[in-house]
Amino acid sequence: MAESGPGFGARLRARLSGHMQLLTLAVVPVFWLGTRIGMVADVSIWTLLGVLFTAQWTTAIAYALWPGRQSGWRLFLRVGIQQWSILLVMYAIGWGPTLAIGLLVGVADNLRESGSKATLPALVWSVAGIAVGQLAIAAGVAPSLVPEPLVHGLSVLASMGVGFTILLLGWTTAEKEAAEREVRASEERFRALVQHSSDVTMVVDADGDLTYASPAFERVLGYDLAEELGSKAGQLMHDDDREALARSAVASSEFAPHHTGRAELRLRDATGRWRWFDASVTNLLEDPAVHGIVANLRDIDERVADRRALAEANARFRSAFEDAPIGMALADLDGHLFRVNTSMANLLGYEAEDLLGVHVSQITDPQDRDSSGSEMRRLAAGEIDAYRLEKRYVHADGHSIWTSLSVSLVRSSDGEPLYQIGQIEDITERRAISEQLTHAAIHDPLTGLPNRTLLTDRLGLALERARRNGGQIGVIFLDLDRFKFVNDSLGHVTGDELLKILGDRLRTAMRPSDTVARFGGDEFVVLCEGMEGTAAIMDVAERVADVIASPVSVAGQEIFVTASLGVAVSSQGPARAENLLRDADAAMYQAKDLGRARVVLFDEAARIQAVHHVQTGTELHHAVERGELDVYYQPMVALDTGLVTGFEALVRWAHPVGGVVKPSEFIPLAEETGLIVPIGLWVLEEACRQIVCWQRMRNGCKPLSISVNLSARQLAEPTLPDELENILTRTKVDPRTVVLELTESALIGDTESASRSLHALCDRGVQIAVDDFGTGYSSLAHLRRFPIRALKVDQTFVDGLGVEPEDTSIVTAVVSLAHSLGLEAVAEGLETPQQLAALRTIGCDFAQGYLFGRPQPARALGDRPADDLQAWQPADC
Ligand code: C2E
Ligand code: MG
Ligand code: MG
Repeated sequence: MAESGPGFGARLRARLSGHMQLLTLAVVPVFWLGTRIGMVADVSIWTLLGVLFTAQWTTAIAYALWPGRQSGWRLFLRVGIQQWSILLVMYAIGWGPTLAIGLLVGVADNLRESGSKATLPALVWSVAGIAVGQLAIAAGVAPSLVPEPLVHGLSVLASMGVGFTILLLGWTTAEKEAAEREVRASEERFRALVQHSSDVTMVVDADGDLTYASPAFERVLGYDLAEELGSKAGQLMHDDDREALARSAVASSEFAPHHTGRAELRLRDATGRWRWFDASVTNLLEDPAVHGIVANLRDIDERVADRRALAEANARFRSAFEDAPIGMALADLDGHLFRVNTSMANLLGYEAEDLLGVHVSQITDPQDRDSSGSEMRRLAAGEIDAYRLEKRYVHADGHSIWTSLSVSLVRSSDGEPLYQIGQIEDITERRAISEQLTHAAIHDPLTGLPNRTLLTDRLGLALERARRNGGQIGVIFLDLDRFKFVNDSLGHVTGDELLKILGDRLRTAMRPSDTVARFGGDEFVVLCEGMEGTAAIMDVAERVADVIASPVSVAGQEIFVTASLGVAVSSQGPARAENLLRDADAAMYQAKDLGRARVVLFDEAARIQAVHHVQTGTELHHAVERGELDVYYQPMVALDTGLVTGFEALVRWAHPVGGVVKPSEFIPLAEETGLIVPIGLWVLEEACRQIVCWQRMRNGCKPLSISVNLSARQLAEPTLPDELENILTRTKVDPRTVVLELTESALIGDTESASRSLHALCDRGVQIAVDDFGTGYSSLAHLRRFPIRALKVDQTFVDGLGVEPEDTSIVTAVVSLAHSLGLEAVAEGLETPQQLAALRTIGCDFAQGYLFGRPQPARALGDRPADDLQAWQPADC
């Protein structure tokens, strides 16, 4: 490899111009003097000069040829040339081994030039040279000022001295080289570290000028280092940080030499962005190797961003926690609260600090401690990560608060459970509402009694218990008799009041374990558990009937109500709630059919009758469609003349299997189902058409009237007046001959539309008669409100005429009432001549009854109904 640096000539010149050459020049006169005084062997001065300069030049050439850190043969040769040059001089002047010290000059020169590698050649050449020199003396070739054999002994000593000294110098040089190598290695290591370090190292002098920056300066900050060197380093720093740094220890007197200060600061990078660094600043101004303040800057931009994000997240959490509208709390895994927000504290009526350290169980309602505690233990054990439950806490003032609680477990980054976080929402109000709703869903709003749903449920449970424990269950189905009358005549408010009072009575009359429920309308059901035998249940039912039957005082008046009760008793075998209810219901219907105000124990016959009742309803639908209905006519007779003045139209059902069915058997059903509306209109049209027909045949006779019954349900139909108008138009009947019979209750029905309808009917010219008068609750005021033509005294009063003084008085009173109001009086259900006589005495105007004739179909009367009663005698309905 070619040597770099100056060439051969330059090296030779440099070598020859050195101080060694001056030394050589100085030696020449010394040698000359030495020869004069016999201190140097007798050699000509020119020879000496020649030897000296040859030695000097040869050595200089060898160094110029193979300079520096040579090795191998070149080094060996160069060392040899120099040592032999010195040896030549030593032996030429006759001093031989006594000048061996001169060899060390050459050794030192070689060691300096090539290092410890020169040790061996120096040793070899020096010792060998002395040996050759001694041989030359011995051979008489070389002069010697020291006599023989002394000179040989000296040469041995000189060899040893030179040898050891060479070795010593060699070792010293080797050590120095090792130390230098170490320094170099460490420098290189340092350089490599600095080179590759991501930390920026900057050195600033006492004036603040940048004197050094590590390569990371360019990499991290993006500047061109060459441009920045010499500029003020502080310019790179953020104003705030510079001021902060100026105030900090780094700028104070404490920042003494070799002291280090730390700070976090921002430096602007080449793009203009501020980057965060962790700076470690050391004052090395007095260190001669540095002469500056060294700043080691670690890029912590990401860390600061993370820290800020964390701080922001913490702040967000803190504010979300503190300002949360719902209660929030942190508790350790044992359940001790260590952080509580204001909402939570407010919820529980404490100050937040008072709750710190409190165990959750201390503020939990005792009833919920178990459930809440077991969930918490599972969470703390890491079995679950979260749970939700509705639980009660105890408020500071002692009352319980219903809350919805959700708790989740917070784990460390390595999954270890740390603590729990709970969110608590006050649901006391919601619970109350939902309890109210639940209560409302299973209770009757009017009486507060359980409703059908709750009773059915309880009945199911009771049956289950009875199956396990024995005992019987009684179900009493209770329906108030003629409650509709009360409602229609005294108003719904009174009706409701009555139901409430009866509900209360029933509740207090029964055992707490029994259930009294209202099934809607005027129906109540009593459920009795643990009964022994049917007789015991029947006793209870009788007692219930008595409770209902005792007079009730509502709104200042006494009302008497009775009830029809059906009783069903659970059998030994499995029973279903709905079957038991159905049976009790069927028995109740039977009680109604048997004349109301009684208790009937369910038997199979009752069930069949109930089934029949349902079937009838279905069949009635078909009856209307199939034209199975018929109209019968019963004459009405003027008592003063004995002549027929008109007819009452009475509907019949010609059942294809059961024969003629009376209205009492299907009219209530038709009213229940609403079928009465089309049936009633059909009867009205049929009757009008018939009377027009008869009238036409009687040509010129006094017009006959036709009375048609109208149920309250029909009156409630807003279309009734128009329908009537149509019928009147279609049949061309004289409206004045049409009498619509309404019961007292229908008449005084308090609905607006009923009243409007009634007036609309009167406007069309038809007449109104009050049917079954005396059985309802109408008042004189009601009677005066409408254009009524007649009052029909109910059959029940007519029955006792002439027999029961009370009935005679009632009929007398009704007739005189009618007359005093300017109305006609009609007696219904006249059966005996005695009754007829009594009516005549009383002064009743008209009568109808079996005595004059039973209702008959028009076809049975032939073409022409006689004015007298002959035509009616044989016929029957
Ligand atoms: P109501 O309007 O009071 O009719 C008189 C009832 O007394 C009729 O019964 C009639 O047959 C019966 N009757 C007449 N004379 C005597 C007698 O001397 N002795 C006895 N024991 N009874 C007598 P019916 O036909 O069974 O009708 C019963 C009730 O059905 C009627 O009572 C009426 O309220 C209702 N009704 C009948 N047809 C209709 C109709 O087309 N529409 C409406 N809404 N109701 C009707
Ligand atoms: Mg009638
Ligand atoms: Mg009647």
